[in-house]
Amino acid sequence: MIEAPAPTGRRDVPAATAPLVVATNVRKHYGGLEVLKGISLTVNVGEVMCLLGPSGSGKSTFLRCINHLERIDGGRISVGGELIGYAQRHGRIFEMNPREVAKQRSGIGMVFQRFNLFPHMTALENIWAAPSGVKKIPKQQALRRGMELLDRVGLAPLAKAYPAQLSGGQQQRVAIARALAMDPQLLLFDEPTSALDPELVGDVLDVMRTLAAEGMTMIVVTHEIGFARSAADSVVFMDGGVVVESGTPAEVLDHPKNPRTIAFLESVM
Ligand code: ADP
Ligand code: MG
Repeated sequence: MIEAPAPTGRRDVPAATAPLVVATNVRKHYGGLEVLKGISLTVNVGEVMCLLGPSGSGKSTFLRCINHLERIDGGRISVGGELIGYAQRHGRIFEMNPREVAKQRSGIGMVFQRFNLFPHMTALENIWAAPSGVKKIPKQQALRRGMELLDRVGLAPLAKAYPAQLSGGQQQRVAIARALAMDPQLLLFDEPTSALDPELVGDVLDVMRTLAAEGMTMIVVTHEIGFARSAADSVVFMDGGVVVESGTPAEVLDHPKNPRTIAFLESVM
């Protein structure tokens, strides 16, 4: 008889060990300002990585590079075995054309600090606008899927509400549902709760915890140390455009080694 694997405690789906995101020596500068000075990290399929670091350390820039919002100047990033921005044809590497970029981006969902919902669209319309446009899904099917996603983030009764009628936390949950509508293989979160009133943070983190437990691969930039401790498989501390320290939540959060990590954690905890 084969013994069942020991429960990991956090997730229903055990994390696989296949890498999904591989960043190798990623560099990025704005003019003379070097913002990413050789970032290397790996995120496995089903893994939740929390990215911590002081303001200006390059966390948002790194996420934006993964999602084609910025172009890297050196190194490489691959997601699901595909290089970001480059395609292989006839054994040679080419810069992706706009159609290939759009397809690659549709597999990577991003949730921002500011939810950026369309103000003139209902919650439901905000969710299905992208998949029906990009993936050419028939409207009825997109609507049905939109309702399922709203239900998943606990907002089905508010399908017809406009963003202005929703709380910040509800708007952020619509933004998460919108990111899920493309069936992404990877979700990126850039300080998803930083703009919220404290009493609204918990509901958003609960939705993210559920996604994590279901096996979604996520990179989460956050200052919510409690969330990192309870939901992350790995924690990476960045400062000044480099990875200073990384490991399990217990290693980085409870037994940090680097003085910069220690000082940062003292400032946010
Ligand atoms: P973090 O998300 O960790 O706070 P960012 O990635 O936003 O850090 O920024 C890192 C550095 O890059 C900061 O010094 C910031 O001012 C600079 N920066 C970010 N975006 C741009 C840009 N579009 N043009 C010039 N400088 C930028
Ligand atoms: Mg940022």
